[in-house]
Amino acid sequence: MGSVGAKEIPELLNAEGRRIDGRRLDELRPISMKVGPLTRADGSAFVEWGENKVMAAVYGPREVHPRHLMQTSKAIIQCRYNMAAFSVDERKRPGQDRRSQEISKVITEAFESVVFTEEFPKTSIDIYIEVLQANAGTRCAGLVAASLALADAGIPMADLVASVAVGKVAGRIALDLKKEEDNFGEADMPLALVPQSGRLVLIQMEGHMNRDEIREALDLGTKGCREIYERMRQALRTRYEVPAGAPAPEAMA
Ligand code: ADP
Repeated sequence: MGSVGAKEIPELLNAEGRRIDGRRLDELRPISMKVGPLTRADGSAFVEWGENKVMAAVYGPREVHPRHLMQTSKAIIQCRYNMAAFSVDERKRPGQDRRSQEISKVITEAFESVVFTEEFPKTSIDIYIEVLQANAGTRCAGLVAASLALADAGIPMADLVASVAVGKVAGRIALDLKKEEDNFGEADMPLALVPQSGRLVLIQMEGHMNRDEIREALDLGTKGCREIYERMRQALRTRYEVPAGAPAPEAMA
């Protein structure tokens, strides 16, 4: 522990190149994904990623509310990212604030570039993201959960969207920052990638990195997104693969 005035700063990287939780610079936090936990939603997914716990539910395509938002040539995507009051150490004021509005907007825009909205004119595809526990990277966890929930709802998309944050910690580029690294590190850059096309559909940055560091961060973040993508595909397979010898889904019901 170092200290600046009264504030204790944890050692973010030790002599062996290990981070505060023992990870290497290019290592993700442990992650688990469950597709379809909510029976009322058209699609849903629950993601536990490090200490983040995030639920996503998708409804639609369905009638547009409020009606004046309806578009005659395509579906609209509406996303609401929300952090529960009990999701952080100090109670968060309930309800939408500027941060959650911003996150809802960037997540909506990320999905607008993969969902085939023109197949469902005059409808709405509604995505709800509820952060039950937060420890940095919740917009990425929310994107991953929402992407799985959209797939679970059977919404046609060009590809899944995978996401992870990358940043700079103790002078080094590091994958998937946790809270202390986000707070005391030099930069945080959440990314979202459409893996098959290689297109980035979300990139934000807080802090300072030079050009070379940004390049390195983009490479590491892209690799991280591809790792997350494989985990997402595995979660969907686990949900939908019929075990050998089991009755086909249409024979069940
Ligand atoms: P992200 O969760 O996508 O990294 P931020 O960088 O804005 O988004 O937030 C980093 C972390 O800071 C959050 O994951 C959460 O742990 C914490 N945090 C965000 N907003 C609040 C808040 N209002 N009160 C307490 N902690 C918060």
